[in-house]
Amino acid sequence: MPELPEVQTIVSGLKKVIVGKTIASVEILDEKRWQADESVVVKSKVTDVRRRAKTILIDLDNGHSLFIHLKMTGQLIFRQKASDSGLGTLDSSVAGGHPSKDWWANLPNKYTRVIFKFSDCSQLFFNDLRRFGWIRSSKSTDLKASQDKEYGVEPLSDQFTEEYLRSVIEKRPKANIKKILTDQSLIAGIGNIYADEALFHAGIRPDRIAATLKKADIKQLHHSIIKALELGLKHGGASDSDYVDSGGNRGEMQHHFQVYGRKGESCKLNGCQGIIEKIRLNGRGTHFCAKCQK
Ligand SMILES: [Zn+2]
Repeated sequence: MPELPEVQTIVSGLKKVIVGKTIASVEILDEKRWQADESVVVKSKVTDVRRRAKTILIDLDNGHSLFIHLKMTGQLIFRQKASDSGLGTLDSSVAGGHPSKDWWANLPNKYTRVIFKFSDCSQLFFNDLRRFGWIRSSKSTDLKASQDKEYGVEPLSDQFTEEYLRSVIEKRPKANIKKILTDQSLIAGIGNIYADEALFHAGIRPDRIAATLKKADIKQLHHSIIKALELGLKHGGASDSDYVDSGGNRGEMQHHFQVYGRKGESCKLNGCQGIIEKIRLNGRGTHFCAKCQK
């Protein structure tokens, strides 16, 4: 599932291209994926694109917002034909990296569930192979209130301090630390990948019981969570499944994982002779180096 860095990469890409555009129509190809009010969406103008936890928020000029959860295999891909934009190239990509021509050529495809058509003829495709994702709408103020109730602090915001991390650890002393990091009501946006990576950077085993963490461990973990997420952002997210950015490009973070998906491989830490192990924890595959994580 896309986590904070993947969702933020999509949001940053979309923000550059859809803010200011008017939604002329919505083509719904899968009724179950569309749980929004079409009447508030059509003819409204996009004023902002934001992220909260793992959801994508598209603010409209009528006080409503669309909010989208990509779940396992959702994609949001923006396309503007050169003939529409007046550009001389075949297609214009919105994000960095190498545009995947397959995506451009094959949209819509059999996994396309919803198509937003803007008044300038550009389009935004919501694809979802496994069909767990959804698009909803709400009054922007109601949405903020409900999301603030559901989600904890954003780990890349100023509210995520070492003291905050200590306070949530103290709230769940008997839980393993990975469980706390992936609890969206405490810290929003961290999932399986970035929890494993952050705990590696911190030298803390994922199954370590929260109450055993010392002040120095929490300080290191706070720093490591931010480091893991920022690395993910730097590399445009991780595409080890269906994730692509808003231009249809794959992320590169999977090539920089320290532990995630590296079972049986050597630990990358200098001087460590450890082999990465994979265990089942909280029902999820969990990766760590027993030599440098305690
Ligand atoms: Zn190691």
